[in-house]
Amino acid sequence: MNPFEYSPALESTAIVEIAERYNLFIDGKFVTPKSGKYFPTINPANEKVLAKIADANATDVDLAVGAARAAYSKVWSKMPAAERGKYLFRIARILQERAREFAVLETLDNGKPIRESRDTDIPLAAAHFFYHAGWADKLQYAGVGIQPRPYGVVGQIIPWNFPMLMLAWKVAPALATGNTVVLKPAETTSLTALLFAEVCQQAELPNGVVNIVTGAGVTGADIVNHPGIDKIAFTGSTEVGKLIATSIAGTKKSATLELGGKAANIIFEDAAIDEAVEGIVNGIFFNQGHVCCAGSRLLIQENIHDEVIEKLKVRMAHIRLGNPLDKNTDIGAINSAAQLAKIRELVTAGGAEGAEQWSAPCEIPGEGFWFAPTIFTGVSQTHRIAREEIFGPVLSVLTFRTPQEAVEKANNTPYGLSAGVWSEKGSKILWTASRLRAGVIWANTFNKFDPASPFGGYKESGWGREGGRHGLTAYLKASN
Ligand code: ADP
Repeated sequence: MNPFEYSPALESTAIVEIAERYNLFIDGKFVTPKSGKYFPTINPANEKVLAKIADANATDVDLAVGAARAAYSKVWSKMPAAERGKYLFRIARILQERAREFAVLETLDNGKPIRESRDTDIPLAAAHFFYHAGWADKLQYAGVGIQPRPYGVVGQIIPWNFPMLMLAWKVAPALATGNTVVLKPAETTSLTALLFAEVCQQAELPNGVVNIVTGAGVTGADIVNHPGIDKIAFTGSTEVGKLIATSIAGTKKSATLELGGKAANIIFEDAAIDEAVEGIVNGIFFNQGHVCCAGSRLLIQENIHDEVIEKLKVRMAHIRLGNPLDKNTDIGAINSAAQLAKIRELVTAGGAEGAEQWSAPCEIPGEGFWFAPTIFTGVSQTHRIAREEIFGPVLSVLTFRTPQEAVEKANNTPYGLSAGVWSEKGSKILWTASRLRAGVIWANTFNKFDPASPFGGYKESGWGREGGRHGLTAYLKASN
């Protein structure tokens, strides 16, 4: 063995107890599904079944919405706001206390490296509850008039890339503003949401304020179409977002939609190149590239293209892919066989359309779903890999000559969620940022998140904002 090789540093799974079977969380209790059906959830790093999850049908959804409605009208909307805030503080503290348990469970069910679930997902989830706990009794400053009102019962549907963090992004503002919730996690990653249900019990949150129904897209559609839902908050694909927008058209339901992205990460010739290379790696390879705001289109000023690519390849050759529970791992497993197939299809299209592929030389484990970090150079704007969201560890590289051209190429996308700009000149960063049609723009960094900072997109990246004061307005109506 090479003396400079890493030794494995495996996180223990002893802290987590996984049941054989999970029921639905309705009205503060775990109840068997009326559907009588369960489906398996697997560990994508070894394809082994972790547990069976209840598959909720329309009757189950109806019971959950009924529980949420009763909790809203009898308890949650009547409670003084400061009291509501105390529950959020309590949940936030329990999440911190049980952080390691959540991190290990998230890594087992999702495939993401423990380093990320431990240092990013779970701390940020707790931070979202702390932040919104503080807002609960200050809603007159949210910008929706002096006596803003909640919507009532909110249906929340979340994806599999940041299961617990997306739950926090949804549940914390909804509860702080006085709404009650029916939430559906993604079918491949339900376990941390079900552990969160236990946290709700532990915090003695009144029954029915949070209800968790598990299942696939059909269950999601049952929530969207239920007449007792006042508002939908969805994070997921643009395709499903469009379906939801169509379903609720003509109803009284409102919606926030956080959808796909194809972010440009722009590197100007005067950028600090080594730092930019770190930002490129973080921008596209964080969470296996399963990130809607990933910096998946790299735009490099033409005269520094070769230097950046050379340094990027050296850096990528040191990325460690493998067991997500190993604390040395940078890239974990792809979340599902279906997602791996989607990544492979687009990568094949990239080659067929004439772009040049380079993949980091890493060993791929024998079982589980994996994809080596990959870049495509010589990409043109018409290529599918420059236009479609790959949602995997695959970067498309384009070049530009002038700042104007960088902006035009960056904006040449149906999406508009995020972007990055790298330059040592503040004036150039501001000039560029003010012309980019993207909801979040990072300067000399990438993928930084904070509960106080609103997040959301332009164009097909969605409707509305989450986080910060702007995010509160998605859950509040003016009194009159
Ligand atoms: P991704 O491509 O990230 O898997 P999806 O949009 O397919 O995103 O999934 C995001 C969430 O939306 C998941 O919880 C999924 O079960 C749910 N979902 C899928 N189809 C529908 C639908 N037709 N109506 C409502 N929710 C859906």
